[in-house]
Amino acid sequence: MNATLEITANKVENINQLKGRRVAVLGAARSGVALASLLHLAGAEVLVSDVKPRKQLDDVIRRLPREVTLETGGHSPAVLDTELIAISPGIPPDVPILQEAREKGIPVLGEIEIASWFVQAPIVAVTGSNGKTTTTSLIGEILKTLYRKVVVAGNIGNPLSAALLEMPSPEIVVLEVSSFQLETIDVFHPRIAVFTNLSENHLDRYPDYESYIAAKMHLFDNMNSEDLVIFNQDDTLLRQFIETFPPLQLPVSLKRTLSHGAYWGSDSLYLKWQEIDAALQWETLALKGPHNWYNIAMAALVGVVLGVPTDAIYEAVSRFQPLPHRLEFVARIDDVTWYNDSKATTVASLASALRSFDVPIVLIAGGKDKGGDFAALRPLLTTRVKAAVLLGQAAGRIAREWEGAVEIHRAESLEAAVEQAGQLAAPGEVVVLAPGCSSFDMFRDYEDRGDQFKQLVLNRKTVSK
Ligand code: ADP
Repeated sequence: MNATLEITANKVENINQLKGRRVAVLGAARSGVALASLLHLAGAEVLVSDVKPRKQLDDVIRRLPREVTLETGGHSPAVLDTELIAISPGIPPDVPILQEAREKGIPVLGEIEIASWFVQAPIVAVTGSNGKTTTTSLIGEILKTLYRKVVVAGNIGNPLSAALLEMPSPEIVVLEVSSFQLETIDVFHPRIAVFTNLSENHLDRYPDYESYIAAKMHLFDNMNSEDLVIFNQDDTLLRQFIETFPPLQLPVSLKRTLSHGAYWGSDSLYLKWQEIDAALQWETLALKGPHNWYNIAMAALVGVVLGVPTDAIYEAVSRFQPLPHRLEFVARIDDVTWYNDSKATTVASLASALRSFDVPIVLIAGGKDKGGDFAALRPLLTTRVKAAVLLGQAAGRIAREWEGAVEIHRAESLEAAVEQAGQLAAPGEVVVLAPGCSSFDMFRDYEDRGDQFKQLVLNRKTVSK
Protein backbone atom coordinates (compact mmCIF):
# COMPACT_ATOMS: atom_id res chain seq x y z
CA MET A 1 0.00 0.00 0.00
CA ASN A 2 1.32 3.43 -0.93
CA ALA A 3 1.32 6.36 1.41
CA THR A 4 -1.13 8.75 -0.22
CA LEU A 5 -1.29 12.50 0.12
CA GLU A 6 -3.49 14.17 2.71
CA ILE A 7 -5.16 16.86 0.64
CA THR A 8 -6.38 19.78 2.73
CA ALA A 9 -7.87 23.22 2.15
CA ASN A 10 -4.39 24.62 2.82
CA LYS A 11 -2.93 24.89 -0.67
CA VAL A 12 0.62 25.59 0.47
CA GLU A 13 0.56 22.44 2.58
CA ASN A 14 -0.62 20.45 -0.44
CA ILE A 15 2.24 21.77 -2.52
CA ASN A 16 4.77 21.11 0.26
CA GLN A 17 3.59 17.54 0.46
CA LEU A 18 4.39 17.00 -3.21
CA LYS A 19 8.15 17.09 -2.59
CA GLY A 20 9.63 13.69 -3.35
CA ARG A 21 6.21 12.05 -3.91
CA ARG A 22 5.37 9.93 -6.92
CA VAL A 23 2.66 11.48 -9.06
CA ALA A 24 1.21 10.17 -12.33
CA VAL A 25 -0.28 12.51 -14.91
CA LEU A 26 -2.65 10.81 -17.34
CA GLY A 27 -2.87 12.45 -20.74
CA ALA A 28 0.08 14.06 -22.47
CA ALA A 29 -1.75 16.92 -24.17
CA ARG A 30 -1.07 20.57 -23.38
CA SER A 31 -2.62 20.59 -19.93
CA GLY A 32 -0.99 17.32 -18.85
CA VAL A 33 2.43 18.45 -19.96
CA ALA A 34 2.09 21.83 -18.26
CA LEU A 35 0.83 20.21 -15.07
CA ALA A 36 3.74 17.76 -15.14
CA SER A 37 6.10 20.75 -15.25
CA LEU A 38 4.34 22.43 -12.30
CA LEU A 39 4.49 19.21 -10.27
CA HIS A 40 8.13 18.77 -11.16
CA LEU A 41 8.88 22.32 -10.02
CA ALA A 42 7.19 21.44 -6.72
CA GLY A 43 9.64 18.56 -6.32
CA ALA A 44 7.41 15.62 -7.25
CA GLU A 45 8.66 12.58 -9.14
CA VAL A 46 6.41 12.73 -12.18
CA LEU A 47 5.33 10.01 -14.59
CA VAL A 48 3.29 11.14 -17.62
CA SER A 49 1.29 8.33 -19.22
CA ASP A 50 -0.60 8.40 -22.50
CA VAL A 51 -2.31 5.77 -24.64
CA LYS A 52 -0.99 7.39 -27.83
CA PRO A 53 2.11 5.92 -29.51
CA ARG A 54 5.36 7.76 -28.92
CA LYS A 55 5.66 9.05 -32.47
CA GLN A 56 2.42 11.04 -32.10
CA LEU A 57 3.86 12.76 -29.05
CA ASP A 58 7.10 14.21 -30.39
CA ASP A 59 6.04 17.72 -29.57
CA VAL A 60 5.19 16.73 -26.04
CA ILE A 61 8.49 15.01 -25.41
CA ARG A 62 10.31 18.20 -26.34
CA ARG A 63 8.34 20.26 -23.84
CA LEU A 64 8.62 17.93 -20.83
CA PRO A 65 11.36 18.57 -18.26
CA ARG A 66 14.10 15.92 -18.61
CA GLU A 67 13.48 14.49 -15.14
CA VAL A 68 9.84 13.65 -15.98
CA THR A 69 9.28 10.06 -17.14
CA LEU A 70 7.02 9.55 -20.15
CA GLU A 71 5.30 6.28 -20.98
CA THR A 72 3.33 5.91 -24.19
CA GLY A 73 1.09 3.41 -25.94
CA GLY A 74 -0.98 2.68 -22.80
CA HIS A 75 -1.09 3.03 -19.02
CA SER A 76 1.24 0.57 -17.28
CA PRO A 77 0.97 -0.67 -13.66
CA ALA A 78 3.55 2.02 -12.79
CA VAL A 79 0.61 4.46 -12.78
CA LEU A 80 -0.77 2.61 -9.77
CA ASP A 81 2.55 2.77 -7.96
CA THR A 82 2.04 6.44 -7.15
CA GLU A 83 0.58 8.59 -4.40
CA LEU A 84 -1.51 10.90 -6.54
CA ILE A 85 -2.97 10.66 -10.04
CA ALA A 86 -3.71 13.81 -12.03
CA ILE A 87 -5.97 13.58 -15.03
CA SER A 88 -6.34 15.90 -18.01
CA PRO A 89 -9.89 17.01 -18.88
CA GLY A 90 -10.01 14.68 -21.89
CA ILE A 91 -9.62 11.49 -19.81
CA PRO A 92 -12.99 9.99 -18.81
CA PRO A 93 -12.92 9.63 -15.00
CA ASP A 94 -14.27 6.07 -15.20
CA VAL A 95 -11.48 4.40 -17.24
CA PRO A 96 -10.52 1.06 -15.60
CA ILE A 97 -7.10 2.14 -14.35
CA LEU A 98 -8.69 5.01 -12.44
CA GLN A 99 -11.25 2.68 -10.88
CA GLU A 100 -8.37 0.52 -9.71
CA ALA A 101 -6.52 3.55 -8.40
CA ARG A 102 -9.52 4.64 -6.35
CA GLU A 103 -9.88 1.12 -4.94
CA LYS A 104 -6.25 1.36 -3.85
CA GLY A 105 -6.98 4.69 -2.16
CA ILE A 106 -4.92 6.83 -4.54
CA PRO A 107 -6.48 10.26 -4.96
CA VAL A 108 -7.50 10.95 -8.57
CA LEU A 109 -7.78 14.68 -9.24
CA GLY A 110 -8.23 16.93 -12.24
CA GLU A 111 -5.73 19.36 -13.66
CA ILE A 112 -7.80 22.36 -12.50
CA GLU A 113 -7.81 21.10 -8.91
CA ILE A 114 -4.06 20.57 -8.68
CA ALA A 115 -3.14 23.70 -10.62
CA SER A 116 -5.41 25.71 -8.30
CA TRP A 117 -3.14 24.81 -5.34
CA PHE A 118 -0.53 26.99 -7.01
CA VAL A 119 -2.82 30.04 -7.10
CA GLN A 120 -2.73 32.40 -4.12
CA ALA A 121 -4.83 35.07 -5.88
CA PRO A 122 -8.65 35.09 -5.86
CA ILE A 123 -10.21 32.82 -8.47
CA VAL A 124 -13.25 33.86 -10.51
CA ALA A 125 -14.72 30.61 -11.89
CA VAL A 126 -17.16 30.76 -14.78
CA THR A 127 -19.44 27.86 -15.57
CA GLY A 128 -22.86 27.24 -17.13
CA SER A 129 -24.23 25.49 -20.18
CA ASN A 130 -23.63 28.33 -22.64
CA GLY A 131 -21.73 31.60 -22.71
CA LYS A 132 -18.78 30.47 -20.60
CA THR A 133 -16.03 31.39 -23.05
CA THR A 134 -17.56 34.71 -24.05
CA THR A 135 -18.17 35.71 -20.42
CA THR A 136 -14.72 34.54 -19.29
CA SER A 137 -12.99 36.59 -22.02
CA LEU A 138 -15.12 39.62 -21.28
CA ILE A 139 -14.29 39.41 -17.56
CA GLY A 140 -10.62 39.12 -18.49
CA GLU A 141 -10.78 42.27 -20.63
CA ILE A 142 -12.60 44.20 -17.91
CA LEU A 143 -10.16 43.15 -15.17
CA LYS A 144 -7.12 43.96 -17.31
CA THR A 145 -8.13 47.62 -17.17
CA LEU A 146 -7.34 47.61 -13.43
CA TYR A 147 -5.03 44.66 -12.69
CA ARG A 148 -1.65 44.16 -14.30
CA LYS A 149 -1.35 40.41 -13.84
CA VAL A 150 -4.56 38.70 -14.90
CA VAL A 151 -4.62 35.01 -15.82
CA VAL A 152 -7.49 33.99 -18.10
CA ALA A 153 -7.46 30.23 -18.36
CA GLY A 154 -9.19 26.87 -18.07
CA ASN A 155 -11.60 25.35 -20.53
CA ILE A 156 -11.18 28.44 -22.71
CA GLY A 157 -8.26 26.66 -24.41
CA ASN A 158 -5.48 27.78 -22.08
CA PRO A 159 -4.85 25.23 -19.32
CA LEU A 160 -4.41 26.81 -15.89
CA SER A 161 -1.11 24.97 -15.42
CA ALA A 162 0.27 26.43 -18.65
CA ALA A 163 -0.93 29.92 -17.72
CA LEU A 164 0.75 29.66 -14.31
CA LEU A 165 4.04 28.59 -15.83
CA GLU A 166 3.95 31.81 -17.85
CA MET A 167 2.66 34.03 -15.04
CA PRO A 168 3.45 32.35 -11.71
CA SER A 169 1.98 34.97 -9.32
CA PRO A 170 -1.11 36.51 -10.89
CA GLU A 171 -3.14 39.14 -9.04
CA ILE A 172 -6.37 37.54 -10.18
CA VAL A 173 -7.37 34.37 -12.05
CA VAL A 174 -10.40 34.05 -14.32
CA LEU A 175 -11.13 30.44 -15.04
CA GLU A 176 -13.64 28.82 -17.37
CA VAL A 177 -14.62 25.47 -15.88
CA SER A 178 -16.63 22.74 -17.58
CA SER A 179 -18.81 20.13 -15.91
CA PHE A 180 -16.14 17.52 -16.76
CA GLN A 181 -13.50 19.50 -14.92
CA LEU A 182 -15.76 19.97 -11.91
CA GLU A 183 -16.13 16.19 -11.55
CA THR A 184 -12.54 15.89 -10.43
CA ILE A 185 -12.09 18.74 -7.96
CA ASP A 186 -11.54 18.34 -4.23
CA VAL A 187 -10.61 21.57 -2.42
CA PHE A 188 -10.90 23.90 -5.44
CA HIS A 189 -12.37 27.12 -4.06
CA PRO A 190 -13.38 30.10 -6.21
CA ARG A 191 -14.05 33.41 -4.41
CA ILE A 192 -16.49 34.42 -7.13
CA ALA A 193 -18.58 31.95 -9.12
CA VAL A 194 -20.27 33.07 -12.32
CA PHE A 195 -23.00 30.68 -13.39
CA THR A 196 -24.32 31.69 -16.81
CA ASN A 197 -27.34 29.38 -17.25
CA LEU A 198 -28.49 25.77 -17.27
CA SER A 199 -29.75 23.80 -20.22
CA GLU A 200 -29.42 20.27 -21.52
CA ASN A 201 -25.94 19.53 -22.78
CA HIS A 202 -23.57 16.57 -23.09
CA LEU A 203 -26.40 14.07 -22.82
CA ASP A 204 -24.12 11.84 -24.87
CA ARG A 205 -21.76 11.72 -21.88
CA TYR A 206 -24.12 11.92 -18.87
CA PRO A 207 -26.85 9.35 -18.22
CA ASP A 208 -29.41 12.11 -17.71
CA TYR A 209 -29.87 15.86 -17.22
CA GLU A 210 -29.79 15.49 -13.41
CA SER A 211 -26.30 13.95 -13.50
CA TYR A 212 -25.06 16.80 -15.69
CA ILE A 213 -26.50 19.38 -13.27
CA ALA A 214 -25.04 17.52 -10.29
CA ALA A 215 -21.58 17.70 -11.90
CA LYS A 216 -21.95 21.45 -12.45
CA MET A 217 -23.02 22.04 -8.85
CA HIS A 218 -19.65 20.77 -7.61
CA LEU A 219 -18.59 24.35 -8.24
CA PHE A 220 -20.06 25.15 -4.82
CA ASP A 221 -18.44 22.27 -2.92
CA ASN A 222 -16.02 24.54 -1.06
CA MET A 223 -17.68 27.93 -1.36
CA ASN A 224 -18.99 29.63 1.78
CA SER A 225 -20.97 32.69 2.84
CA GLU A 226 -17.94 34.97 2.36
CA ASP A 227 -17.91 34.10 -1.33
CA LEU A 228 -20.10 35.43 -4.13
CA VAL A 229 -22.14 33.88 -6.89
CA ILE A 230 -23.23 35.91 -9.91
CA PHE A 231 -25.94 34.18 -11.91
CA ASN A 232 -28.80 34.53 -14.36
CA GLN A 233 -31.88 34.96 -12.22
CA ASP A 234 -34.26 34.63 -15.17
CA ASP A 235 -33.18 30.99 -15.49
CA THR A 236 -35.71 29.50 -13.10
CA LEU A 237 -34.08 26.12 -12.76
CA LEU A 238 -30.67 27.64 -12.11
CA ARG A 239 -32.12 30.04 -9.55
CA GLN A 240 -33.66 27.17 -7.59
CA PHE A 241 -30.30 25.47 -7.32
CA ILE A 242 -28.31 28.60 -6.50
CA GLU A 243 -30.64 29.45 -3.64
CA THR A 244 -29.59 26.29 -1.84
CA PHE A 245 -25.89 27.26 -1.69
CA PRO A 246 -24.20 29.53 0.87
CA PRO A 247 -22.41 32.21 -1.24
CA LEU A 248 -23.86 35.70 -1.34
CA GLN A 249 -26.10 35.92 -4.39
CA LEU A 250 -25.70 38.65 -6.98
CA PRO A 251 -28.40 38.09 -9.59
CA VAL A 252 -28.54 39.34 -13.16
CA SER A 253 -31.80 39.89 -15.01
CA LEU A 254 -33.26 41.10 -18.29
CA LYS A 255 -36.75 40.97 -16.87
CA ARG A 256 -36.73 42.55 -13.41
CA THR A 257 -35.30 45.54 -11.63
CA LEU A 258 -33.06 44.46 -8.77
CA SER A 259 -31.92 46.12 -5.54
CA HIS A 260 -28.48 44.51 -5.90
CA GLY A 261 -26.86 42.82 -8.88
CA ALA A 262 -27.21 43.87 -12.52
CA TYR A 263 -30.21 44.30 -14.80
CA TRP A 264 -31.07 45.76 -18.15
CA GLY A 265 -33.87 48.29 -18.40
CA SER A 266 -34.74 50.93 -21.01
CA ASP A 267 -31.53 50.26 -22.98
CA SER A 268 -29.22 50.72 -20.01
CA LEU A 269 -27.33 48.28 -17.87
CA TYR A 270 -27.85 49.03 -14.19
CA LEU A 271 -25.13 47.92 -11.79
CA LYS A 272 -25.83 47.84 -8.07
CA TRP A 273 -23.31 46.64 -5.53
CA GLN A 274 -22.65 48.18 -2.10
CA GLU A 275 -22.30 51.94 -2.70
CA ILE A 276 -22.06 51.55 -6.50
CA ASP A 277 -25.24 52.48 -8.36
CA ALA A 278 -24.44 53.01 -12.05
CA ALA A 279 -26.28 52.96 -15.37
CA LEU A 280 -24.35 52.27 -18.57
CA GLN A 281 -25.79 52.87 -22.02
CA TRP A 282 -24.12 51.84 -25.27
CA GLU A 283 -25.03 53.18 -28.72
CA THR A 284 -24.10 49.94 -30.44
CA LEU A 285 -22.45 46.74 -29.29
CA ALA A 286 -20.60 44.20 -31.40
CA LEU A 287 -21.99 41.42 -29.18
CA LYS A 288 -25.41 40.63 -30.57
CA GLY A 289 -28.51 39.15 -29.01
CA PRO A 290 -30.15 39.03 -25.56
CA HIS A 291 -27.94 36.12 -24.50
CA ASN A 292 -24.94 38.42 -24.77
CA TRP A 293 -26.66 41.04 -22.60
CA TYR A 294 -26.60 38.46 -19.83
CA ASN A 295 -22.93 37.80 -20.50
CA ILE A 296 -22.15 41.52 -20.39
CA ALA A 297 -24.15 42.04 -17.19
CA MET A 298 -22.36 39.20 -15.42
CA ALA A 299 -18.91 40.29 -16.55
CA ALA A 300 -19.60 43.92 -15.61
CA LEU A 301 -20.72 42.83 -12.17
CA VAL A 302 -17.48 40.90 -11.63
CA GLY A 303 -15.66 44.11 -12.57
CA VAL A 304 -17.69 46.19 -10.11
CA VAL A 305 -17.15 43.71 -7.27
CA LEU A 306 -13.41 43.66 -7.92
CA GLY A 307 -13.16 47.44 -7.93
CA VAL A 308 -12.97 48.28 -11.64
CA PRO A 309 -14.36 51.80 -12.24
CA THR A 310 -17.58 51.73 -14.23
CA ASP A 311 -16.19 53.93 -17.02
CA ALA A 312 -13.41 51.38 -17.55
CA ILE A 313 -16.04 48.60 -17.67
CA TYR A 314 -17.93 50.64 -20.24
CA GLU A 315 -14.85 51.01 -22.43
CA ALA A 316 -13.86 47.34 -22.18
CA VAL A 317 -17.36 46.19 -23.20
CA SER A 318 -17.44 48.74 -26.04
CA ARG A 319 -14.18 47.40 -27.46
CA PHE A 320 -15.08 43.73 -27.12
CA GLN A 321 -15.61 41.82 -30.37
CA PRO A 322 -17.49 38.48 -30.59
CA LEU A 323 -15.08 35.57 -30.37
CA PRO A 324 -14.64 33.51 -33.54
CA HIS A 325 -17.46 31.01 -34.19
CA ARG A 326 -19.84 32.67 -31.69
CA LEU A 327 -22.38 34.56 -33.75
CA GLU A 328 -19.47 35.97 -35.68
CA PHE A 329 -20.17 38.31 -38.60
CA VAL A 330 -18.71 36.80 -41.79
CA ALA A 331 -19.80 38.94 -44.74
CA ARG A 332 -22.59 40.92 -46.33
CA ILE A 333 -23.17 39.74 -49.89
CA ASP A 334 -25.93 41.20 -52.06
CA ASP A 335 -27.53 42.58 -48.90
CA VAL A 336 -27.67 39.14 -47.22
CA THR A 337 -25.66 38.99 -43.99
CA TRP A 338 -23.88 35.77 -43.05
CA TYR A 339 -23.06 34.74 -39.46
CA ASN A 340 -20.91 31.89 -38.22
CA ASP A 341 -22.19 30.43 -34.94
CA SER A 342 -20.45 27.06 -35.29
CA LYS A 343 -19.94 26.99 -31.50
CA ALA A 344 -23.74 26.75 -31.11
CA THR A 345 -23.53 23.02 -30.40
CA THR A 346 -26.58 22.84 -28.14
CA VAL A 347 -30.28 23.42 -28.64
CA ALA A 348 -30.15 26.34 -26.18
CA SER A 349 -27.35 28.12 -28.03
CA LEU A 350 -29.17 27.53 -31.31
CA ALA A 351 -32.23 29.15 -29.71
CA SER A 352 -30.09 32.13 -28.64
CA ALA A 353 -28.93 32.57 -32.22
CA LEU A 354 -32.52 32.60 -33.46
CA ARG A 355 -33.49 35.23 -30.86
CA SER A 356 -30.66 37.50 -31.95
CA PHE A 357 -32.16 38.74 -35.24
CA ASP A 358 -35.33 40.59 -36.06
CA VAL A 359 -35.17 39.83 -39.80
CA PRO A 360 -36.00 36.45 -41.41
CA ILE A 361 -33.31 33.82 -40.88
CA VAL A 362 -32.13 31.09 -43.20
CA LEU A 363 -30.69 28.58 -40.78
CA ILE A 364 -28.02 25.97 -41.43
CA ALA A 365 -28.19 23.34 -38.67
CA GLY A 366 -27.35 19.71 -37.92
CA GLY A 367 -24.21 17.71 -37.21
CA LYS A 368 -23.45 14.99 -34.70
CA ASP A 369 -26.42 14.43 -32.43
CA LYS A 370 -25.84 15.33 -28.76
CA GLY A 371 -29.35 14.28 -27.78
CA GLY A 372 -31.00 17.73 -27.47
CA ASP A 373 -34.74 18.39 -27.70
CA PHE A 374 -35.08 20.03 -31.12
CA ALA A 375 -38.89 19.99 -31.02
CA ALA A 376 -38.70 22.66 -28.29
CA LEU A 377 -37.56 25.13 -30.97
CA ARG A 378 -40.75 24.86 -33.05
CA PRO A 379 -42.34 28.15 -31.85
CA LEU A 380 -39.10 30.09 -32.50
CA LEU A 381 -38.74 28.51 -35.94
CA THR A 382 -42.25 29.47 -36.92
CA THR A 383 -41.79 33.11 -35.99
CA ARG A 384 -38.18 33.69 -37.00
CA VAL A 385 -36.91 31.18 -39.52
CA LYS A 386 -37.71 31.37 -43.21
CA ALA A 387 -36.07 28.04 -44.08
CA ALA A 388 -33.77 25.50 -42.50
CA VAL A 389 -31.04 23.64 -44.38
CA LEU A 390 -30.12 20.48 -42.46
CA LEU A 391 -26.99 18.41 -42.74
CA GLY A 392 -25.05 15.74 -40.89
CA GLN A 393 -25.93 12.70 -38.88
CA ALA A 394 -28.70 14.42 -36.88
CA ALA A 395 -30.47 15.82 -39.96
CA GLY A 396 -33.10 13.07 -40.10
CA ARG A 397 -34.14 13.42 -36.47
CA ILE A 398 -34.19 17.22 -36.62
CA ALA A 399 -36.30 17.12 -39.81
CA ARG A 400 -38.84 14.88 -38.07
CA GLU A 401 -38.97 17.12 -34.99
CA TRP A 402 -39.36 20.29 -37.06
CA GLU A 403 -41.77 19.01 -39.70
CA GLY A 404 -44.60 21.48 -40.30
CA ALA A 405 -42.97 24.24 -38.23
CA VAL A 406 -40.54 25.43 -40.89
CA GLU A 407 -39.60 24.87 -44.53
CA ILE A 408 -36.93 22.16 -44.52
CA HIS A 409 -34.14 21.42 -47.00
CA ARG A 410 -31.45 18.77 -46.76
CA ALA A 411 -27.82 19.07 -47.84
CA GLU A 412 -25.13 16.42 -48.20
CA SER A 413 -22.22 18.76 -47.50
CA LEU A 414 -21.54 22.14 -45.94
CA GLU A 415 -20.74 23.44 -49.38
CA ALA A 416 -24.16 22.38 -50.68
CA ALA A 417 -25.81 23.85 -47.57
CA VAL A 418 -24.14 27.23 -48.14
CA GLU A 419 -25.19 27.14 -51.79
CA GLN A 420 -28.82 26.35 -50.92
CA ALA A 421 -28.94 28.93 -48.14
CA GLY A 422 -27.60 31.55 -50.55
CA GLN A 423 -30.46 30.81 -52.93
CA LEU A 424 -33.09 30.85 -50.18
CA ALA A 425 -32.09 34.17 -48.56
CA ALA A 426 -33.53 37.41 -49.95
CA PRO A 427 -31.96 40.88 -49.56
CA GLY A 428 -32.26 42.14 -45.99
CA GLU A 429 -32.26 38.63 -44.54
CA VAL A 430 -29.57 36.71 -42.68
CA VAL A 431 -28.00 33.28 -43.08
CA VAL A 432 -26.79 31.74 -39.82
CA LEU A 433 -24.79 28.58 -39.31
CA ALA A 434 -25.97 27.48 -35.84
CA PRO A 435 -25.79 23.68 -35.87
CA GLY A 436 -27.26 22.81 -32.44
CA CYS A 437 -25.03 19.73 -32.67
CA SER A 438 -21.37 18.91 -32.33
CA SER A 439 -19.22 18.67 -35.41
CA PHE A 440 -17.47 15.34 -35.14
CA ASP A 441 -19.45 13.59 -37.86
CA MET A 442 -17.99 15.70 -40.69
CA PHE A 443 -15.33 17.99 -39.24
CA ARG A 444 -12.31 17.91 -36.94
CA ASP A 445 -14.03 20.21 -34.43
CA TYR A 446 -16.37 23.21 -34.32
CA GLU A 447 -13.52 25.52 -35.32
CA ASP A 448 -12.82 23.49 -38.45
CA ARG A 449 -16.56 23.59 -39.28
CA GLY A 450 -16.72 27.36 -38.72
CA ASP A 451 -13.55 28.02 -40.70
CA GLN A 452 -14.79 25.97 -43.65
CA PHE A 453 -18.11 27.80 -43.49
CA LYS A 454 -16.42 31.20 -43.51
CA GLN A 455 -14.26 30.20 -46.46
CA LEU A 456 -17.28 28.97 -48.44
CA VAL A 457 -19.12 32.22 -47.73
CA LEU A 458 -16.11 34.37 -48.63
CA ASN A 459 -15.79 32.44 -51.90
CA ARG A 460 -19.33 33.53 -52.73
CA LYS A 461 -18.32 37.11 -52.06
CA THR A 462 -15.55 36.86 -54.63
CA VAL A 463 -17.91 35.32 -57.17
CA SER A 464 -20.65 37.91 -56.64
CA LYS A 465 -18.27 40.90 -57.14
P1 ADP B 1 -19.44 28.03 -23.96
O1 ADP B 1 -18.01 28.30 -23.64
O2 ADP B 1 -20.29 27.85 -22.74
O3 ADP B 1 -19.66 26.98 -24.99
P2 ADP B 1 -19.47 30.33 -25.76
O4 ADP B 1 -19.28 31.72 -25.28
O5 ADP B 1 -18.34 29.66 -26.45
O6 ADP B 1 -19.99 29.42 -24.56
O7 ADP B 1 -20.74 30.29 -26.72
C1 ADP B 1 -21.23 29.05 -27.19
C2 ADP B 1 -22.49 29.26 -27.97
O8 ADP B 1 -23.54 29.73 -27.13
C3 ADP B 1 -22.38 30.30 -29.08
O9 ADP B 1 -23.22 29.84 -30.10
C4 ADP B 1 -22.91 31.56 -28.47
O10 ADP B 1 -23.46 32.43 -29.43
C5 ADP B 1 -24.00 31.02 -27.53
N1 ADP B 1 -24.10 31.78 -26.28
C6 ADP B 1 -23.20 32.64 -25.75
N2 ADP B 1 -23.64 33.12 -24.58
C7 ADP B 1 -24.84 32.55 -24.34
C8 ADP B 1 -25.79 32.65 -23.28
N3 ADP B 1 -25.57 33.42 -22.22
N4 ADP B 1 -26.92 31.90 -23.39
C9 ADP B 1 -27.13 31.10 -24.44
N5 ADP B 1 -26.29 30.99 -25.48
C10 ADP B 1 -25.15 31.69 -25.43
